[in-house]
Amino acid sequence: MSATRSVPVVQAVTPPATTNRLFVAGAAASHAAHLRSYGPLATETITNTLLVALEASGLTGRGGAGFATWRKLAAADEARADRVLRSSPIVIANGAEGEPRSTKDATLLQNSPHLVIDGLLATASAIKASQVYLYTVAENFRAVQHALNERPDARHIVLVEAAESFISGEASAVVNAIENGIALPTDRIRRLSDSGLKKRPTIVQNVETLAHIALIARYGARWFRSIGSDRDPGTRLVTVSGDVQHEGVTEVAGDTPLRDILATRGVDRSNVLAVLVGGYHGTWVAADNLGVELSAAALAPLGGHPGAGVLYVLSKQRCGLQATADIVQYLANESARQCGPCMFGLPAMAGVLTRIASGHRDPNLRRELRELSDTVAGRGSCHHPDGTARLALSALSVFADDANHHLSGRCTRQSR
Ligand code: SF4
Repeated sequence: MSATRSVPVVQAVTPPATTNRLFVAGAAASHAAHLRSYGPLATETITNTLLVALEASGLTGRGGAGFATWRKLAAADEARADRVLRSSPIVIANGAEGEPRSTKDATLLQNSPHLVIDGLLATASAIKASQVYLYTVAENFRAVQHALNERPDARHIVLVEAAESFISGEASAVVNAIENGIALPTDRIRRLSDSGLKKRPTIVQNVETLAHIALIARYGARWFRSIGSDRDPGTRLVTVSGDVQHEGVTEVAGDTPLRDILATRGVDRSNVLAVLVGGYHGTWVAADNLGVELSAAALAPLGGHPGAGVLYVLSKQRCGLQATADIVQYLANESARQCGPCMFGLPAMAGVLTRIASGHRDPNLRRELRELSDTVAGRGSCHHPDGTARLALSALSVFADDANHHLSGRCTRQSR
């Protein structure tokens, strides 16, 4: 990506200097409080030079996949340039947050909705989008509608209700929901950035990513990178839940060790068996490895990824195999059952895991689970089976000793 002009920066206030970047304006911030805290942003003047700042910032998507944000915008911008005027792009803010263990997007939309709106308007202006949507679940509607009503520059944003389901936030499901009222993934032959909603170039961007875009548009890439590490710059929101006293959302610097994040929620590490990182499509990390940082690069050797910034804690009193069986059963129930892997493979995987967890002494069960995981991965229209297979395989690896105990009838943990 190359360009010569710089992004217009309006810096009326001192930029945030700590890891508290996204909630500086306080709880349920009004537009006035937002402007006092962050200063104004003339979103309508922003051009595609914003992409230069985004590339320099190193911002990656905070919705789960972790793509470089600037690349997504560049793809839609390039598609627009190849098209006649009627095919101008569409931008959709994705606040569906189907991941049951994540509450970060709801927390953001209910407390800092104006950062999300700024980021949405800035993105739309940068790629000359003609239509703008904000897609989220009913619980966030009141806060978002109130915020939209507060500002004349947001009147054209269309608010769309998302279904409460695990897959309603998958990008093609978002487009399908807005276009046809059906929040299910669709087979994609072409990229959404080429042909999405109404066959126009479409960007589906997570709401936290948009909030970071709003701050980069104000304060620039160098400011964004002043916290975090070179390989994971900026901050990210993390939802800590499970066997913890204080569940909730915390904003941390990129590349922060898991143990330090858990400490912000008062977790007693001596009683942690493992932590599920990234959400229900994520990977278990054993207690011995809690020094690993929450970044794509650090987690890769463990087969993990930050995903949507979820840390789900399992205490030593719980059974990791049973917890995984419950999650895989949930994921099997949540699939649209449009494709073979979800219709047959996921329920079968849940069944095998449940048999291992409940002490069936069948030495073939582990092999059966591995074969099922291999069979479903990469065979669906979306990545739902892949994520489920990843979770199941990580349970077999991290809870290998437990599996030995179960298969020999020697498990002493609680079943859940
Ligand atoms: S893989 Fe599963 S969740 Fe994805 S489209 Fe097919 S049936 Fe639906």
